Amino acid sequence: MRNFGLIGFPLEHSFSEKYFTEKFSHENISDCSFNLYPLKSIKEFPELISSVKFDGLSVTIPYKQAIIPYLNHLDDVALAVGAVNCIKFDYSNEQGALSGYNTDVFGFEALLHKLRIPKNTKALVLGSGGASQAVTYVLRKNNIEFNVVSRKPSSNEIINYSELNHDILESHQIIINTTPVGMYPDVKKCPDIPFQFITSEHICIDLIYNPSRSLFLKQSEKQGVRMANGLIMLYAQADKSWEIWNK
Ligand code: NAP
Repeated sequence: MRNFGLIGFPLEHSFSEKYFTEKFSHENISDCSFNLYPLKSIKEFPELISSVKFDGLSVTIPYKQAIIPYLNHLDDVALAVGAVNCIKFDYSNEQGALSGYNTDVFGFEALLHKLRIPKNTKALVLGSGGASQAVTYVLRKNNIEFNVVSRKPSSNEIINYSELNHDILESHQIIINTTPVGMYPDVKKCPDIPFQFITSEHICIDLIYNPSRSLFLKQSEKQGVRMANGLIMLYAQADKSWEIWNK
């Protein structure tokens, strides 16, 4: 049996287990299993991998950065982003080797290409956490200028929510929510931005996929925008992880 799974905490509403279990069933893959491994602390990781012989693991909040010291190799993208959401296990030498990848980058790029962003469009990235790092990596790679919006700006290039005004919204036509604000079960919350300055020229993206239409997207929709949730990204990152585990 080939063992796959997800580490993170908490994991009650995980998409991955359902996705991979259904995939194995639909594609008649009978030698693979995918299970959830909620870890209260990343310090439990060594014990977990000594008790189960994994082929691959997905990593989610809050361990995408904390997992890095436990890995033997990082691929270039994971190194540049500073976060890992996919681990491949290689047992070709005695010690075994754990390699870290960032397939969120691949997922967000797939979403961005689907949206066919017009040239010379600037982006506002709400939040500065792990997902924000993956998003800004892709924006840079695709030559899309951006500014990050944070509750606690750590440099002059990062904007505070209270600074968002008509001029900034007018000059940034892509708005990407990379914060968990509005995610289930806190569905009545949304990032604190002046929605009145959003127009039908804007493209609004929420990495949140549960609910499928967050309050951020609902408020943006009222202004007639083009929009997308995080589902395309989610499927694309899962498929990319599967590809890496099977290389
Ligand atoms: P994270 O590392 O915890 O970072 C989230 C960032 O959001 C924080 O650094 C913070 O930035 C901001 N934030 C957090 N709480 C906030 C609040 N109450 N008000 C305003 N801003 C707040 O989490 P993450 O890993 O980046 O994930 C963020 C979201 O993206 C989650 O909802 C996750 O499910 C989603 N995601 C989706 C996919 C997908 O495939 N669709 C992939 C990855 C992540 P500041 O401190 O700068 O304000």
